[in-house]
Amino acid sequence: MELLRGAIRTYAWGSRTAIAEFTGRPSPTAHPEAELWLGAHPGDPARLETADGERSLLDAVRADPDGQLGPAVRGRYGDVLPLLVKVLAAEEPLSLQAHPSAEQAVEGYVREDRLGVPLTSPIRNYRDRNHKPELLVALSEFHALGGFRPAARSVDLMRALAVPELDPFIGLLSGQPDADGLRALFTTWITAPQPDLDVLIPAVLDGAVDYMRSGATEFDDEAKTLLELGERYPGDAGVLAAMLLNRITLAPGEAIFMPAGNLHSYIHGVGMEVMANSDNVLRGGLTPKHVDVPELLRVLDFRPADETMLRAPTHRDGIELVYETPASEFAACILMLDGENLGHEIDAPSRHDGPQILVCTEGSVIVRAKSDVVELNRGSAAWVAADDGPIRLEATSPSRLFRATVGL
Ligand SMILES: [Zn+2]
Repeated sequence: MELLRGAIRTYAWGSRTAIAEFTGRPSPTAHPEAELWLGAHPGDPARLETADGERSLLDAVRADPDGQLGPAVRGRYGDVLPLLVKVLAAEEPLSLQAHPSAEQAVEGYVREDRLGVPLTSPIRNYRDRNHKPELLVALSEFHALGGFRPAARSVDLMRALAVPELDPFIGLLSGQPDADGLRALFTTWITAPQPDLDVLIPAVLDGAVDYMRSGATEFDDEAKTLLELGERYPGDAGVLAAMLLNRITLAPGEAIFMPAGNLHSYIHGVGMEVMANSDNVLRGGLTPKHVDVPELLRVLDFRPADETMLRAPTHRDGIELVYETPASEFAACILMLDGENLGHEIDAPSRHDGPQILVCTEGSVIVRAKSDVVELNRGSAAWVAADDGPIRLEATSPSRLFRATVGL
């Protein structure tokens, strides 16, 4: 078991304060910090603090896969850590995106190889053969767009904005309030000529301003989000797409799970993310990065979903707050130390003998494994290798450890 030092990724949508404050570094930082990667992804592996200095977790896994991953994980996933943990800090909205299913990822990877698109090319969509289910657990209040909301509700929103330019689209969707209608409308907007968008989007934004001024509250968050997106990405069809997606607000500790084909955009907040170890993202807008609309349309799932369907069910089991997801690459929980658990050593429940990534999100915890001891304060992380065995925890004040393990 070692302290794990994450790799910071700076993107324009990140925060100059959130990750720095979480990890106890001076803020504001010189660049906006968007993600802290805690894993063995070849793109940016985290580093272990060993007695002989820092060492890449990726190198450690490659050098001793049996000891680091354990035989069960190796048997199923080979000699790679199948999950990636991130602290995500969105100051501004992230791109509108979806991730492919396992079959789509393999097919897309092979196709782009055949077409000779280099793996490092900015226009490459499929950088590996994996799907990328992802779970986000909010650390602060967290705002997101995710999944097509039931069509009738989107019709209500468009009507409430009272924009005559939307009338034909309201007609289209109310005439076919199902997945096919959503596909037709989304496709119309995302492929619309720029001059059309330059008329329609400002009209929608004016409608949102009027709606907010009117004192109506039903679609307050939706109207505000449209204005934010419109200001940040003028003329981007993603602004229109936002009218079709669930506008989700998570309280700290609540979580959403994004299955394959689910269109989403994280808008604002700090969270822990766990995902399959993949980089396959198909973008549809709200980004200066590569956008591939035809490929996005191939993978999108237009079946309407209530936002509650995206929330990961959670239940408390002893000291564990367990987040249930259908993903096999990862499992996630928060180990909650409070009340009568404080002031003495307790066993952390262990599910199998694979590795664990621990991130302290509140308080301070002493973690013991075999002969090793580490103290984790808020924002610090540890890697527990498979052969470090079960862990024991001790805290003197209420504390929380986010734990990611391989699902199996
Ligand atoms: Zn995503």
